[in-house]
Amino acid sequence: MEDENLEMHRARSTLVVWSHSTLAVFDLMKQVRYGYKITQEVSNIIKSSIETQLVETKNELEGMLAYPDEELIDIIKKVGFECDLCGRCCTNEFNDHVFLLDKDTALLKENDPSVIVPAPYYEFCDQNGRFYVSGYALKTKPDGSCTFLTNGRCEIYDSRPSICRLYPYMLHYEADEDGNLEWRQIGGLNEHGNYHTDIDDDECKRIAADIKEYEAGYLNQKIVFLNTVDERFKKEGLRHVQGVYDREMRRFKKGGEIEVFVFFDGEFESVKFVQGSD
Ligand code: SF4
Repeated sequence: MEDENLEMHRARSTLVVWSHSTLAVFDLMKQVRYGYKITQEVSNIIKSSIETQLVETKNELEGMLAYPDEELIDIIKKVGFECDLCGRCCTNEFNDHVFLLDKDTALLKENDPSVIVPAPYYEFCDQNGRFYVSGYALKTKPDGSCTFLTNGRCEIYDSRPSICRLYPYMLHYEADEDGNLEWRQIGGLNEHGNYHTDIDDDECKRIAADIKEYEAGYLNQKIVFLNTVDERFKKEGLRHVQGVYDREMRRFKKGGEIEVFVFFDGEFESVKFVQGSD
């Protein structure tokens, strides 16, 4: 039981650390991925160069792939999360947005393109005031719930996006007590659902494999995005300008329209966007 409590404490500590502004680049990237609550101001603290982000993301991918399956399976087993259908994880009470991998976006676009929006916390803004982001997110309703949440139930449960299938089992890249970066399992633990339920070994293995597949999918999408931004910026003489980013964000918050280039299927799609249209 002591070990179990330690794991739960670790996971919860991650969330506490997450809510403070002492966040490193890795944390920011992770927040963009999982949509945990952060402010735009916090996301603007660090905008490292494309080259730096590429190196970091490749290192992150390598580290994630090297994370021992047995350790991940063991954590899943100890946490023993079971959904109690409260639906809270499908609202921005818990998760700021649902980031979509390309395969999720493709499926949603086929059925109803109006349910997706550019994922928030855009990575770059060029000198002409155009933003760049690595993918789409699900739209939310004015009350902060997912566009697919109706009467506490998911309307597309059988075909829900990848991240919804994993929740709350995710990996977070963070520093340990000695400052060494390591992977930990995270989620809104102890905040909802049931814990310490018995999950059979095969199911734990399946969840662990799905987590790694999602992480690899996300990181590879990010790497291709960064490479494509880099090529485009070099070819068209563009560069990220933080001052323009901040100015355009202020204009956006006052109701102005912005243009966001959203990365999908190896290309950028231009989306004109005003506050509240998500
Ligand atoms: S798609 Fe379904 S499972 Fe995912 S956040 Fe929306 S309602 Fe919840």
